[in-house]
Parts: sequence; structure tokens; C-alpha cells
Amino acid sequence: MSILICPVCGNPLSETPNQYRCPDGHCFDRAKSGYVNLLLSSGKHTKLPGDNKMMVASRKAFLDKGYYRPLADALCQAVLPLLPRVGGTLLDAGCGEGYYTQRLAEEAEAAGQQLAITGVDISKFALDKAARRRKDICFAAASVFHLPIATASYNLVTTLFAPWCGEEMIRVLKPGGWLAMVIPGPKHLWELKEAIYDQPYENEVRDYQLEGFAFQQRIPVEGEIFLDNNPDIQSLFQMTPYYYKTSAEGQQRAAALKELTTRIQFEILLYTRNG
Ligand SMILES: [Zn+2]
Repeated sequence: MSILICPVCGNPLSETPNQYRCPDGHCFDRAKSGYVNLLLSSGKHTKLPGDNKMMVASRKAFLDKGYYRPLADALCQAVLPLLPRVGGTLLDAGCGEGYYTQRLAEEAEAAGQQLAITGVDISKFALDKAARRRKDICFAAASVFHLPIATASYNLVTTLFAPWCGEEMIRVLKPGGWLAMVIPGPKHLWELKEAIYDQPYENEVRDYQLEGFAFQQRIPVEGEIFLDNNPDIQSLFQMTPYYYKTSAEGQQRAAALKELTTRIQFEILLYTRNG
């Protein structure tokens, strides 16, 4: 039995090497890369929802070079001690191509911590990359607004730059469970924006309060990264939401950048589930 439930009827799913199956006979195949597709066609707004192939490839190329390693390290440091040494459960909701999910698994392993880790994302392109990272993480294609996950399953949910669905987070967390949310700070990638836009705007940082959760801690992560080549700059640009909002002129400016030093600024926000 797994923590995953059937997206059709809500019964628990059993795992076989190639499939997940519920007692009512609904079957879900495992992709060649290893993730299971639990996205129902009725739940998709487009044929291929989520980050597209180019965004996923850019993000993976950029993250695998370690530019955001300080964030991954700070996240591991903040959340792994919140989990039990043995038998802890962690959900990475909106895991993308799995860079942070993998780092969490690696650091837990290095510390001798035995965790069951699940990664969920709506983009099959992203999951295809994620599932190749580690076979001991359960990766599933699903929407964070309709998680195919049994109620009260997780000690901790991480959500990094992902769409927010508070009700589902509350539902899948165990009582007293933890939530770690990562958001960009106001000046995140400021110098990249300055290079591209005539009038760069700061990211809006909203109120920290979340319904159903008690705010516990804010951990700022700040630094500077140096990109010494245009392909890395393009990868960074293309993995951001700005890319699609940028004029042709802005895109040309990005294409002409030979190097870039820019600020990175994140906030890790820790919460406990009320009740
Ligand atoms: Zn079923």
C-alpha cells in the first residue's frame, strides 16, 4: 500500500512494478522514467499542463550547476531536523524537475535519516526529469489542487515557488505537521531584471499569515551569483515567469548578455498546521 490514492474513487493504491492499482480496478501506469501519472484528463485545462519542455530543460540545466545550492542547503537545514529520524514522511508539492526533492533526499540519507519522500507536479516534462534523479522518491503527476494522497499522511510539506492550495495542504498533513514555503524575496534577480527591463519592479511579498496554519519562522537566504556565459543566463531567464512577459527588445537584451552578476533572495517560511 502506498500513500497515494486513486484519483477516480479515492481508494488506496497498491504498487506493482509497472502500475498502481486500486481495489475497484482503476489502473495507472508508471512511465518509463518511473513516475506515475495520476492526472485525469478531466482535471487538465490543457493537453499538457504545467511547465513546458523548454522551461523544464532550462530549469534543470540551471539548477544542476548549483547556482541555487545555498537555498537547497538552507532548506535541508531548516526542515530535516523537524522530521523523525525514522519513518518521517515528506511531500514536495509542485516539485518541478526535482532538484530540491533530490537534495532533501540526499541530505536525509547523509544524516542517516530514513524518510519516505513524494514529489508531485502537474508537468509531465518536469516529472520525467525528476523521476530519473532518484528511484527511492515516489513521483506522481497530479495537481496540487487535487492531490491523490490519503488524508493526514505527511509530517512535512514543502512548496517552492508553486501554486498554493491551503485546503489540500491541511488535508494531507498529519496533525501538528509542518509546512515549508519558499518564495522569492523583493530583490530576487534584481540585476537580471535591470539588464532586461527599462523599469524593473520588485517582487511583491505578501502577508505571511496562512489560514489554517501558525506562522513559526522566516529564514532569509541571500547571496550573489555570477554567470559567466550566455547559455546559463538564458537558462535562468527562461525558467522565470518574466520570460513570457518580456518584449522582443527585452529578449534581445538577454540574448546579448555575456555575463551577469545578480542577487538571489529567497524566504523560507515555516508553519505548523493548526489542530
Ligand atoms: Zn479507483
